Amino acid sequence: MYTGQTVEPCCLCDDARTVQQIDLPPRCVQLMQHAGSVAWQDVVGPLSLYFCESDWELVCDLVLELGQNPIGRCSVARASMTIREDFETYLSTTREVPDQRPLEAEMRATAQAALADPSSPVDTREQVQARVLLWSLEELSSSASSEWVTDAGDNA
Ligand SMILES: [Zn+2]
Repeated sequence: MYTGQTVEPCCLCDDARTVQQIDLPPRCVQLMQHAGSVAWQDVVGPLSLYFCESDWELVCDLVLELGQNPIGRCSVARASMTIREDFETYLSTTREVPDQRPLEAEMRATAQAALADPSSPVDTREQVQARVLLWSLEELSSSASSEWVTDAGDNA
């Protein structure tokens, strides 16, 4: 089944030669550039961001050295995700908003575990993904728009 792009470009510079990828809950769409073009409520499953080699280095520095969340620089248009319309022909169900909370809770727990477990050496990708994910969720919960209410506005 066709779910969108087959080649995922770097979400920062559009380079097609990507080396790394992180997954985030759908709600994080709101923090990205051009967030208005996608309704996060329609995103099914995790959102994948891909990075080229030089941008991955940049992202690692930002996250691990400087403690900054790079998600605001990443473009929604270049993220890989499945939009609900793709599924509708299969499911032909109602236009209920998918409940993303279980997925989000699971991803949050995985991220917390990745950062908390001192026994296993956590790889860089896992660490970057965990931090970006937790920071983003924190940012979303502290922002003015309430969590599960439709927000049609641009958050730019
Ligand atoms: Zn790049």
